[in-house]
Amino acid sequence: MEFSQYPVNTLLSITNRPDLVFTEGQGMWLTDHTGKRYLDFLQGWAVNCLGHSPQCVQDALIKQAGRLINPSPAFYNEPAIRLAETLTKHSCFDRVFFANSGAEANESAIKLARKWGQLHPNAAGDNRFEIITFEHSFHGRTLATMSASGKTGWDTLFAPQVPGFPKAHLNDLESVKGLITDKTIAIMLEPVQGEGGVLPVAPAFMQALRALTQKHNLLLIVDEVQTGMGRTGELFAYQLSEIEPDIMTLGKGIGAGVPLAAMLCKEEFACFTPGDQGGTYNGNPLMTAVGQAVADTLLAPGFMASVRESSEYLGAELERLSEEFGLQGERGEGLLRALRLGQDIGPQIVEAARLMEPVGLLLNAPRPDLLRFMPALNVTHAELDQMLAMLRQVLRQVQAA
Ligand SMILES: *Cc1c(COP(=O)(O)O)cnc(C)c1O
Repeated sequence: MEFSQYPVNTLLSITNRPDLVFTEGQGMWLTDHTGKRYLDFLQGWAVNCLGHSPQCVQDALIKQAGRLINPSPAFYNEPAIRLAETLTKHSCFDRVFFANSGAEANESAIKLARKWGQLHPNAAGDNRFEIITFEHSFHGRTLATMSASGKTGWDTLFAPQVPGFPKAHLNDLESVKGLITDKTIAIMLEPVQGEGGVLPVAPAFMQALRALTQKHNLLLIVDEVQTGMGRTGELFAYQLSEIEPDIMTLGKGIGAGVPLAAMLCKEEFACFTPGDQGGTYNGNPLMTAVGQAVADTLLAPGFMASVRESSEYLGAELERLSEEFGLQGERGEGLLRALRLGQDIGPQIVEAARLMEPVGLLLNAPRPDLLRFMPALNVTHAELDQMLAMLRQVLRQVQAA
């Protein structure tokens, strides 16, 4: 079918999409409506942690679809209970609330913190509700999570904002201290700022935040929607700093492509009472059964070691490529990495890579001077090598132009 034959204008326009329609995906590869194949280093924005249409997800969906899809969140179901048990067993948390998107999981974390702040008011007896977040952070696209985000321009887009999210500078403890008031209830951050440009939080900074929050009786919330579920080479990125947060949110990789997210908290902060939080699809067995299949895969012996091995290989190869082309090096954690270009040629590279023939390469430039790599966690060396060879070709092309 020709692209022009698709009635794409029946979809509300929300972003500039290229003139192609993806029809199939398998592992690291996508196929478009013309049959052209693309090596996919976006993977749904770090979502498809096991690549496109992994067998374990297909099996879990088919098996669970024939058994029970939706009894309603007013009742228990087996996959939700099992997955909550798995997540709490392998993290420092005790309780899980399932949601359908990262933004919704973060909304839950914000609501839980505000509830905690009502139950633990300041000396004057006022609610504590302010949550300190960070410049360039990304927490989602609902009104509260947009307000929590530090994305440039988002303070006025859809104004007025939800109040109570002062912004500090990442890896700058004084900037956080300066924002603490008697209304503060929590500090919330991504262990690696993903959309902000793959900026890792220094372990010493995370540890200092843990000490600071303990001193001021504040909650420490980590948004691991992008970094969680093995992406950074640990099951959860907070483990890189050897601290224990109070609340964590998960999304993206937890469902390997299906809509599943979660908020986890320690027992002492599990302060919701009936009516405070819910949602029609929360914890539905179809999605949580997939989450279980994903978790089982990540927890299988040797899987995380192979993620760390691939990460080291990709990091070293990107560094080598950077030297070859006179770029500014690479950074990241695990299989969430970025190449610093030193010039605003990111969008040009992304476009040229996609247009390559006979196969294309899908990359992302979260900032104009940066390329981000978020392959499937089970990416092979051969696939990494193929991407690097294609990227070299595109860089030569762009630098020559
Ligand atoms: C993607 C992302 C979100 C939002 O998740 P959605 O599923 O798109 O709502 C929140 N926080 C971080 C760190 C993310 O990367």
